[in-house]
Amino acid sequence: MLDEVFKKSLQFENFLKTVKNGKASHSFLLISKDAFSAQTMANLFAEALLCPSLCGECENCKKIKSKTHPDVKYFPEGAKLLVEDSKKIVDESFVKPIFADKKIFIICNVDLSTEEAQNKLLKSLEEPQKNVYYILTTSNLDKVLPTIRSRCDKITLAPASEEQIQPYLSGDEQKKYLALKLGQGYVAKTLELNKKSNLPALFELGLGLLRDCSSSKDAVVWSRKIIDQKADFNLLIEIISLLIEDALMLKIDKNAAVNFENFRAQILQIAQMLSIKCLSQLQGVLGRAVRDLSYNVSFPLVADNLVMKILEVKYLCK
Ligand SMILES: [Zn+2]
Repeated sequence: MLDEVFKKSLQFENFLKTVKNGKASHSFLLISKDAFSAQTMANLFAEALLCPSLCGECENCKKIKSKTHPDVKYFPEGAKLLVEDSKKIVDESFVKPIFADKKIFIICNVDLSTEEAQNKLLKSLEEPQKNVYYILTTSNLDKVLPTIRSRCDKITLAPASEEQIQPYLSGDEQKKYLALKLGQGYVAKTLELNKKSNLPALFELGLGLLRDCSSSKDAVVWSRKIIDQKADFNLLIEIISLLIEDALMLKIDKNAAVNFENFRAQILQIAQMLSIKCLSQLQGVLGRAVRDLSYNVSFPLVADNLVMKILEVKYLCK
């Protein structure tokens, strides 16, 4: 289970220590770019508060794991925290726990909520009732009101290591490898990438656009390949960008560590073919493609433009 990965993290170990010392604060703000990781950790914090030995066997542990503990409340009820949610939290915080000796509110993705909802929530955080705990999560600290931030113990979750995530991945070695490299330690992202059957095809396409796309005769073929991967265009751009980063590294130092170590030979080929200037300009081309898409330019046109620009930059930098 993913819980095991998080239990071994420094952040969790430190938290557990404060719980066992009886020094745990009443409100926490868990910060992670990966919302799923933050939520998993929040649930684990709740378990530690109600059963510091994390026995996994008692009713508290079992009920928290199945998210059915009557004293652990999950918010928001919809997609984001609304004023009504905050009102409910304030009201319920005055109701005594019915099963355990503490009451815990897990409030996810606070950054998505309105200022009004956050202000309302602040009331509870400022004057916490005895034995009431608040565990908030966010992917974007800037969108959390400073008043909320200052009331909470802020804990930034470190990305997990590849060794920690590896056992939870499935499929062939190449699929696992690409998910790990592109996931960059974010557990939810890595697992999501691991589910994509087209991941190796996307990677090959990225590699191909840099290495093999060099004649305007084939432009239509490359453009068609991109259109076939429309749903994952941003991921394709991310892959190409990391490959360019790798090629630039190898241009500077042939022995440098790269993102995609298993593809070193292919990336070295790209580094030998393209100049530093060319690679840097190609990075700019990627940025423009993403921007065009966000301006609602039709997708086939975005794909055509991308291929034409890649050809143009390669030709001009020759
Ligand atoms: Zn237990």
